[in-house]
Amino acid sequence: MFENLSERLGGVFDRLTKQGALTDADVATALREVRVALLEADVSLPVARDFVAAVQERATGQAVTKSVTPGQQVVKIVHDELVRVLTGDDEPEALKIDNPPSAVLMVGLQGSGKTTTTAKLAKRLKDKNGKRILMASLDTNRPAAMEQLQILGTQIGVDTLPIVKGETAVQIARRAKQQATLGGYDVYMLDTAGRLHIDEVLMGEVQAVRDIAQPRETLLVVDGLTGQDAVNVATEFDGKVGITGVVLTRMDGDGRGGAALSMRAVTGKPIRFVGLGEKLDALETFEAGRVAGRILG
Ligand code: GDP
Repeated sequence: MFENLSERLGGVFDRLTKQGALTDADVATALREVRVALLEADVSLPVARDFVAAVQERATGQAVTKSVTPGQQVVKIVHDELVRVLTGDDEPEALKIDNPPSAVLMVGLQGSGKTTTTAKLAKRLKDKNGKRILMASLDTNRPAAMEQLQILGTQIGVDTLPIVKGETAVQIARRAKQQATLGGYDVYMLDTAGRLHIDEVLMGEVQAVRDIAQPRETLLVVDGLTGQDAVNVATEFDGKVGITGVVLTRMDGDGRGGAALSMRAVTGKPIRFVGLGEKLDALETFEAGRVAGRILG
C-alpha cells in the first residue's frame, strides 16, 4: 500500500539525509516536494496545506537546520504529523458491541466491498472476540447479493438470517433484531443495499433501518483506491445517516493512500479497519503508526 507516496517521500528524504547540514531554503524545497507528493497521492489541498504548515512550524521550532542529522529529524517530524493527521489525536477505539444484541450497520456504495467486509468483520468478531454473530442482507433489489452473504456466512461459520422473498429492508431489519434477541446473539450485522451513486431513496431506506436497529456502530465501507471520492462519499453518508467509523478496502492495491490521510481530517471520523485482500481474514485494525511508517517507507 502507498507505494507511490512512499517512494516519492523516500526520494525527498534520501536527498535530505545525504546533504548534511541544511539551509532554510533546503527545508522549504523539501516541504514543497512533500506537498506535491501528497497532492499526487490525492490528498485534498487543504489537508496537504495544513500538513506542510504544521511540519514547517515544528521543523523551525526545533532548529532542524542546525541539527547534525537534519534529514532524519524532518523525517521524524513528518512521521509524527502523519500519525496525528491519521488519528486526529485520539486513541484507536474498540467497536461498541457491549450491549447484546448490538447492531452494526454496514453502509456504502455498491462495489465498495461492503458484503465482503461484513463477512470479514463477522469472522473477526467471532474468532478474536468470541462473539455470536447474526448477519442479514437488506439488499432486496439484488437477490444475488443476499445469496452471496449467505454463502460467505457458511464459509466462515457465522449464521445468516434466512431469506424471505418479498420483504422490505425495514422488515428484514426488524426480523434480524427479533431473531438476534431471541437467539441470544451478541451482535447482528445489517448489510444494507448499495447503489452506484448516493441517492435519496437509498438514504431514506438506510435512515429507516437505522431508526429500527439503533446501531451501536454504523460503519461506512469505501474503496480506498478512489482517493478523494472516498472522502466525499464519507462526508455525504455522515451528513445523511451519521457514521461512527470507516473501513477502507482494497488497501492491498497500488492505491496512493490519499483517502486515508484526508479521511480523518475532512470527516472527523476514525478509520476503524483496512481491507487488505479478497480473502476473508484480510481485514486489519487501522494503526496510524504502521500506516505512517509505510508511507515513509
Ligand atoms: P459490495 O457490492 O460493496 O457488497 O462489494 P463486494 O463485497 O461484493 O466486493 C466486490 C469485490 O471487491 C469482490 O470481488 C471482493 O472480493 C473485492 N474486495 C473487497 N474487499 C477487498 C479488499 O480489501 N481488497 C481486494 N483486493 N479486494 C476486495
